[in-house]
Amino acid sequence: MAQPINEGSPCPRCMIGYMRSIGERKGGFSGGKALVGAVIAGPIGLAAGALGKKKITYACNRCGYTVEK
Ligand SMILES: [Zn+2]
Repeated sequence: MAQPINEGSPCPRCMIGYMRSIGERKGGFSGGKALVGAVIAGPIGLAAGALGKKKITYACNRCGYTVEK
C-alpha cells in the first residue's frame, strides 16, 4: 500500500526532497473553492469539495518526481 502523499510529505523516490502541490484539477477542496462549488452546484458541489473529489499533482522539490493524488 503506497504511503499517502500530502503537502510536505517526504519524496518517495529520492527520500530527500519534499512533495509540494503544484496544481489541481477542477473541483475544490479548499474552503473558498468549496464555497464556490456550493454557489454553483449547491449542496452537492459543497459535498464534492469537502470530500476532495479531485486530483492534485504533487512534485518533489528536489528530484522533480511527481505524483497525482
Ligand atoms: Zn524527490
